Amino acid sequence: MNIEQFWVFHCGYSKIPRWMIVEGGGRQEIKLPFLAALAVHPEHGPILIDAPFGTEGPSNVGEFLGGVLRKIGVVFKDEWAVIPRIERLGFRASEVNHVLMTHMHFDHTGGMKSLGHASFHINRDEWVAATSMSAFAARTKGYVVEDYRALTSRVEKLDLSGATIEKGVDVFGDGSIEAVPLPGHSAGHTGWRIRLADREIFYVGDAAFSVGHITQNQELGIFPKIAADSKKIAGQTLEKLRWWHRDHPDVEILTSHDVDLGQACMNGPLGVHVDAG
Ligand SMILES: [Zn+2]
Repeated sequence: MNIEQFWVFHCGYSKIPRWMIVEGGGRQEIKLPFLAALAVHPEHGPILIDAPFGTEGPSNVGEFLGGVLRKIGVVFKDEWAVIPRIERLGFRASEVNHVLMTHMHFDHTGGMKSLGHASFHINRDEWVAATSMSAFAARTKGYVVEDYRALTSRVEKLDLSGATIEKGVDVFGDGSIEAVPLPGHSAGHTGWRIRLADREIFYVGDAAFSVGHITQNQELGIFPKIAADSKKIAGQTLEKLRWWHRDHPDVEILTSHDVDLGQACMNGPLGVHVDAG
């Protein structure tokens, strides 16, 4: 089965110099976006990928990463919160029955509570990492437990232990969306491969920050480096993604913080693919 529409939108951005994201990227100021996506499934309806910020905005920022971001400042407007974004695309929040999480860092979880009725599909390794520490220790790792603690019964844990970048797990059993393990940025970081009628999209979350980290071999800047749970594993995953891209150059790669992608949806949600039929 094919996904009928695929939209990307931002829930805010931070102004930072480019070198923080791309090594040797220069001092030019960029808008680092906090992106999410909406895939429309013919039977399951609108499916959200990540829930960056709710109506309270980026007030959930963690101690460590959040401390950096707090200093820099996140630009946020009420209409950029995840629910108004979904509504702007013509759906009610109550229609969203499935949320796919790349990982559980605060800039991906702030809006989860506003979708409390949905099922959250999360790599089991990520759920364990995000829930096994004290709330304080979790914050130093970028996890804000308050965002999702009350949603435990809504979590569908995915077992990706046998999955690879080549062969992930078919989430709905119909070939439309595949969960792919991309660990390193966080313990159970997960990418989502989306099948559309005329193309495939690989939403890799924070496994790379800019798409160019994968497609142009750009090196990671300081920000993705300090944000990584394991620099070594994150580096191995990035290398696998580069190889995978060489073998599958037609698949469109999207990341959660790509500046060009953020720029393209600065004025509203970007339809990466909208099936006319
Ligand atoms: Zn992130």
